[in-house]
Amino acid sequence: MDRRNFLKTGGALALAGGVLPGCRGAERAPRLNFREDRKMTLRWFPYELELAHTFTVSSYSRKTTPDVQVEIEYDGLVGYGEASMPPYLGHTVESVCSFLEKVDLSQFTDPTRIEDIMEYVGSLSEGDAPAKAAVDIALHDLVGKLLGLPLYRLFGYNPEKAGDTTYTIGIDTPEVVREKTLEAAGRFNILKVKVGLDADKEMIEAIRSVSDLPLAVDANQGWKDRSKALDEIFWLRDNGVVMVEQPMAKDRLDDIAWITERSPLPIFADESVQGLGDVLPLKGIFTGINIKLMKSGGLLNARKMIAVAEACGMKVMTGCMTETSCACSAVAALAPASSFQDIDGNLLITNDRFTGGVRVVSGRLTLPDLPGLGLSLK
Ligand code: MG
Repeated sequence: MDRRNFLKTGGALALAGGVLPGCRGAERAPRLNFREDRKMTLRWFPYELELAHTFTVSSYSRKTTPDVQVEIEYDGLVGYGEASMPPYLGHTVESVCSFLEKVDLSQFTDPTRIEDIMEYVGSLSEGDAPAKAAVDIALHDLVGKLLGLPLYRLFGYNPEKAGDTTYTIGIDTPEVVREKTLEAAGRFNILKVKVGLDADKEMIEAIRSVSDLPLAVDANQGWKDRSKALDEIFWLRDNGVVMVEQPMAKDRLDDIAWITERSPLPIFADESVQGLGDVLPLKGIFTGINIKLMKSGGLLNARKMIAVAEACGMKVMTGCMTETSCACSAVAALAPASSFQDIDGNLLITNDRFTGGVRVVSGRLTLPDLPGLGLSLK
């Protein structure tokens, strides 16, 4: 029986905990056959993301995001991955492509050995988190397709717990902010506001003049004085804000710990937390961490970050960059493990390559019951 027929008949059942016809009990795990002569092929191409609105945070504005789309083909199946490179992180299309040139997946005959494969990919350089994330996401998508399971099932998560996603309202004039809020208010149950410039209160008041939805705020390191920041957090709490992201510069950890200790709202790290090694040192400094695949280097490390955060008694938030539905669907598979979700990157672009994957229905993240990321090419 070849792999596909095996999966169609008893294989998927057996993997999900059932028993193969003809087997007594579960004495031996059923095997997928990974033949030596089947190789993984990695390919990639640049894909510039076009943003629906000019994106402004406390430090810059932009209208496009550089991106590289990645595919891993194996035995007639294709796993999709993606590297998105917001300019402030210092990665470029060139740096991602030159990293991917170094990756030789032909030495692996079993794509399900994600730990081994990503250990090798990780060893190829010190940084390059977006390029590593692209390989990791494509590999997970491929393995989900090989096993016939959505990623959240592979991870053991309940998709009903994926929760609401925030939708970001960028910094703008009060008129535009009101317009964007009205546009979003019917479709989302929580909005996210970029603060950290002088006009924070005007932004919130503009939103409050047209909507009473709960708000998350992201200061993107913009607040300079901890006492003023704390005063503002109390004011924000009184105006329906439920969480605060990255109040001050990423290395001002003493000031941030001071704020967190006194804050009526949970304080989440974003710029202060990049990869797995950053989580433990933030215990006691932030209430929680914002995990994004372009920072963590992919799903495997993101899941390890969740485990460390939970062990430290910290909360987890899942987030994204501007990305297509590919990377957004990948991080959405982790949403059931997070207490805030900020997975709207695919909704902010006008040239998504994919249909399917994660969708927002009545403000809630809805994960498809389809293998891997559940994506189709447009
Ligand atoms: Mg942020």
